[in-house]
Amino acid sequence: MPTIVHIGFGSNMGDRTGNCRAALKYLDKSSAAEVVKVSSLYLTEPVGFKEQDWFINGAAEISTGLSSLDFLGLLLETENKMGRKRVLRWGPRIIDLDILFFGDEIISSKDLVVPHIFLQDRRFVLEPLFEIAPDKIHPVFGKTVAELLDSLPPEGEKVEKLETGWWDE
Ligand code: ADP
Ligand code: MG
Repeated sequence: MPTIVHIGFGSNMGDRTGNCRAALKYLDKSSAAEVVKVSSLYLTEPVGFKEQDWFINGAAEISTGLSSLDFLGLLLETENKMGRKRVLRWGPRIIDLDILFFGDEIISSKDLVVPHIFLQDRRFVLEPLFEIAPDKIHPVFGKTVAELLDSLPPEGEKVEKLETGWWDE
């Protein structure tokens, strides 16, 4: 039985939209994963380290037969194939691929924390996720994505939805 996974993706170097598209295409081409739904893109203010370009962020729903750790391996392989170098934590990156939900699994290991540890705090994650999975229930908090988005404080980093048809499949 495949698992429905939600991922968040983002880029703030080079052709940011092109990088997001290339990452999803790479995942979709893999025999182990199929991209099912893709959100709009959002232009988002960096969180943490401010002296860097704004990000393009989005979220996608993916169906996979892989285990959570193997799926994480596929995401890291995709980042590496695209030339991501880890220089500065929370610094500029060509592409960042994070697991937000892995079905309803709750995982807390050295290499993987699922649901994503900051999901509930980040507007740049919740806005695109809300577009594709508003009723998905966070298995730890027992709240839907819509409820989590509603409880975010209005201040905080800016997130602007971009009106571009960027994903055509
Ligand atoms: P961040 O996404 O926090 O900016 P990185 O992309 O550099 O940081 O990821 C560092 C490590 O975070 C990964 O190698 C992975 O082992 C770990 N990690 C833990 N939980 C997750 C998750 N839910 N999704 C992606 N990576 C995760
Ligand atoms: Mg990451």
